[in-house]
Amino acid sequence: MGKTVITMGTLGILGGGQLGRFFTIAAQKMGYSVVVLDPDDKSPAGKIANKHICKPYDDLEALDQLKDICSLVTTEFENIPSETLRYLEKDIIVRPSSKAISIAQNRIKEKDFLEKCGMPVGTYVVIDTLESISKLDSNKVLIFPGILKKAEFGYDGKGQIHVNNKAELEAAFIAFNSVPCTLELKLDLDGEFSVVLARSVDAQFVVYPVIRNHHEAGILDVSFISGIDPEGEQGAYISLAKKVANELSYIGVMAVEFFMSQGDIFVNEIAPRPHNSGHFSIDACGYNQFDQQVLTLTGNNPRKEATQFPKSAMLNILGDLWFRGGLLREPKFEMIAGPGVTLHLYGKDQPRKGRKMGHITILGLLGQTGEEVLQRVEEVRKILLEN
Ligand code: ADP
Ligand code: MG
Repeated sequence: MGKTVITMGTLGILGGGQLGRFFTIAAQKMGYSVVVLDPDDKSPAGKIANKHICKPYDDLEALDQLKDICSLVTTEFENIPSETLRYLEKDIIVRPSSKAISIAQNRIKEKDFLEKCGMPVGTYVVIDTLESISKLDSNKVLIFPGILKKAEFGYDGKGQIHVNNKAELEAAFIAFNSVPCTLELKLDLDGEFSVVLARSVDAQFVVYPVIRNHHEAGILDVSFISGIDPEGEQGAYISLAKKVANELSYIGVMAVEFFMSQGDIFVNEIAPRPHNSGHFSIDACGYNQFDQQVLTLTGNNPRKEATQFPKSAMLNILGDLWFRGGLLREPKFEMIAGPGVTLHLYGKDQPRKGRKMGHITILGLLGQTGEEVLQRVEEVRKILLEN
């Protein structure tokens, strides 16, 4: 199974959001057909896939259908039940492995794994019972102000509550129905970074430049290529990310999110899939993160590819933009057209506040500095907000 290269046929993907949609586009571009399993009949990827199986992720008949049709199955997000992945894995290639996904989908397992491979992680404790709170010795463990995070099913800052003391922690834990959580010390952030990489069956890597990320209320807002020194800091982020991938024997594209706090680097979390912060690659690179995903999953090597526009940035478009001034109205995207500016919309039917509807890439054109590119990002934002 290991070295086989899948050159044609049908690839299956669990999840039909925007990441699945870009995967579908990349796979179809290389001649594959794609089947999407997603219970939402209007999912962005389901709309353009060769076939959409509109069933829940634990529907055995649907999973058997995937086994019959596909040469391999992958997933676009980590919140797929691990039983589903293990069921598929018995008879068909599943990449990344159910093991890698089961670690990335549970913050407790993830932190444990990261610590075991010697990764720097921020101070945290596991909160899984009220007793674990009463036992907390807040004099010994510096844990407030902290963030209580549900161990599973969180994304875009959902499933997180900021807490300042034990009473708030207890209330937050109860508000989460006492499901297992991590309580993380809130770090004083100098910056957030991510590394997106592709790793092949035989451990060949392609790594995109280190990306700097700005979040608003836990949701990614702007990403840009950090431009930090490739010999120094950049090397440190990249070698940590590659180590994580090697320890997981990872096949496919993954992202590692980092915090920089008071000069120290911490691994925040692992995304076992392409990442929102890597979307610049769709316009800035010959082979984008989804192309590399298709290549590595099918047993090919990722394509070594210089980033053609090394000063690029990306602005996320949330549903909030449709609700300016208390009215539901379309943003005036025609007003932001210009050299190096590309709009991507994901085909979601309903704009909702906090929902990712699309993104805009802003390529650094010849001679432009990183600062100038970020200024253009803010100009684009202003135009969209004011019109
Ligand atoms: P998600 O799965 O929603 O991406 P994260 O753990 O990455 O969850 O948290 C989302 C964002 O919240 C982070 O990118 C960061 O901006 C902020 N955040 C999370 N944990 C911390 C922390 N320990 N200290 C400071 N900020 C944090
Ligand atoms: Mg995150």
